[in-house]
Amino acid sequence: MINPFETAKAQLDKAAATANLDSDLIERLKVPDRYVEVSIPVVMDNGEQKIFTGFRSQHNNARGPYKGGIRFHPEVSLDEVRALSFWMTFKNAVVGVPFGGGKGGVVFDPKKVSPAELEKISRGYIQKISRLIGPELDVPAPDVNTNSQIMDWMVDEYAKLTRNKNAPACFTGKSLGNGGSEGRQEATGFGGGIVLREVLAKNLIQARGKTIAIQGFGNVGQFIAEAVANLGWKIVALSDSKGGVYNEAGLNLTEAEAHKKQTGALKDLSGSANITNAELLELGVDVLIPAALENVLTAENAGRVKAPLIFEMANGPTTTEADEIFQNSGKIVIPDILANSGGVGTSYFEWYQNMHGEHWPREQVLDKLKSLMIQAFADVFTVHKKYQTSFRSAAYILAAERLAEAGS
Ligand code: GLU
Repeated sequence: MINPFETAKAQLDKAAATANLDSDLIERLKVPDRYVEVSIPVVMDNGEQKIFTGFRSQHNNARGPYKGGIRFHPEVSLDEVRALSFWMTFKNAVVGVPFGGGKGGVVFDPKKVSPAELEKISRGYIQKISRLIGPELDVPAPDVNTNSQIMDWMVDEYAKLTRNKNAPACFTGKSLGNGGSEGRQEATGFGGGIVLREVLAKNLIQARGKTIAIQGFGNVGQFIAEAVANLGWKIVALSDSKGGVYNEAGLNLTEAEAHKKQTGALKDLSGSANITNAELLELGVDVLIPAALENVLTAENAGRVKAPLIFEMANGPTTTEADEIFQNSGKIVIPDILANSGGVGTSYFEWYQNMHGEHWPREQVLDKLKSLMIQAFADVFTVHKKYQTSFRSAAYILAAERLAEAGS
């Protein structure tokens, strides 16, 4: 088993060696400020009690309140949550929003519970961590398998327990009627599209057919697909957890979305061939976008990846060994902490609106997000040039400098 927390620390070490960063700072950044494991008893629909395990890791708050999502997945572990909270600290520093890093998760498969059970687990988790979170303390958000409905339940539970008058500001990614921000749902994918456009404008790769393969068709995958289609690029492959589909001539996104909605999966989409997730990663495309889970690009398959550009919309999709293989073969990797930072960037706008009692139109939110992403890419690019280093190390160096300035 590849431990994502070890991957995260190795990435930081590599960047620290390149830029000669202060070793005491680096050691401090390798340990989260605190983390908790909680037990969540829930009476299931059949009347039986089941106890679920949840985590929250608060990595660092030198730049502002801890901030990061909550994921529901059967493979959530403490090390995964710690790694994800660590990446949030660096991501928020790269994109320049005044937040630290946090992350949470509950170990279960949300596809195997009823809506009533899902609500009870969501509320039960908040009952256990309500004293650790708050609008100026720790601000959760959606992540893998969580959405605005779940955030709304959590806000409600948090409000009941704490009587905090500004409870909505304790969560981002809420529904629009409950203090959510315009543009937040599509923000991660939209922001990724802006960064990808900036990367492509640098002519770092020679694109032959302007083709893209995307692994993952959840909230991130769907919106990055729309964003790259708007750039005029051809999406030849898409996948979800049940498998993928391929069409050399390009997939029609509207049809793929409709098919997924109707059948619950992408596979068997008419006019395309079924492929596995493993096959998708090795296709001869110009850009590969992992947009699902961590550790999908490993020592085992990295040598067979053909795309010259890997654009990480998932958190932690590339292991340390795979990263090394990509670097040695001259591939460009745009790291998660830059590529997918548009989600939390917009979470900042949502939080700001809640804290100031404002509601901005969608155009305004997306315009601000666009500037944020263009600036973040420009800042990382400057460090990449200065140290002649990978984009991942450049992003870490930039973030570490900002964390040092904040007194981390
Ligand atoms: N879950 C998203 C991420 O990994 C967003 C977190 C947030 O908005 O707080 O970046």
